Amino acid sequence: MKTAAPTGAPEPASTAARIDAWFHTTRFFTTCATLDQLPDGGVPEIAFVGRSNAGKSTCLNTLAQQRQLAFASKRPGRTQHINLFAVGKQGATDAYLADLPGYGYAAVGLADKRRWQQVMANYLVSRQALRGVVCLVDARLGITELDQALLDLLAPRVAAGLRFVVLLTKADKLTRAEQTKALSIARLQCAGGDAALFSSLKAVGVNPLRERIYDWCGRPLAPQAPLQAS
Ligand code: GDP
Repeated sequence: MKTAAPTGAPEPASTAARIDAWFHTTRFFTTCATLDQLPDGGVPEIAFVGRSNAGKSTCLNTLAQQRQLAFASKRPGRTQHINLFAVGKQGATDAYLADLPGYGYAAVGLADKRRWQQVMANYLVSRQALRGVVCLVDARLGITELDQALLDLLAPRVAAGLRFVVLLTKADKLTRAEQTKALSIARLQCAGGDAALFSSLKAVGVNPLRERIYDWCGRPLAPQAPLQAS
């Protein structure tokens, strides 16, 4: 005999649906030219870094399921800034996603490049609110010298508990065999972190990345038990 499902209380959403809904609340918060313009700590921050054209804006848009979101960071005057996006339901801010300037872009003058490398280095080394770093690299290029310099810079913080993942983006452009090879090389190069295949175009690795970030922000992955009436 079938037992009737309990009625009245709403079904708890699946973990994936809850996490999707949380990311969907992502909105532009502010753009900062210097570190002292960043909000005071207290809210967990996840930084997105990578060479220009690695697919960072597309990745942020995919996470949030919003087509234009991170192109806010590409507006004139903002490409060399830290752009913060707030995440949280009903206007609450549970976390910030920090879109750091893309590096390695040839058209930026040397003086600007140096200044920005310094701001980025200071941010990555000193930002207390930082919980995790997503480093995006084009899967066809792998971890380049510039990416490695950034990972080396992070190493002491990673040893102290900072989380990071190297995303091999545009994985759809590689064959299965090339993907496997790129992943094992990247895993060897990023000791202390992890590497994962990612494609915004083919939705490869999107949910695992959402879960990872959610977890890094201290959000509970398992559904919360409903409150018991006493
Ligand atoms: P950003 O400079 O790092 O923000 O890079 P963008 O997000 O602007 O992406 C750079 C280029 O890569 C654009 O032409 C995107 O359409 C393309 N791109 C981004 N993600 C993917 C992907 O998953 N697959 C493919 N094939 N192309 C992608």
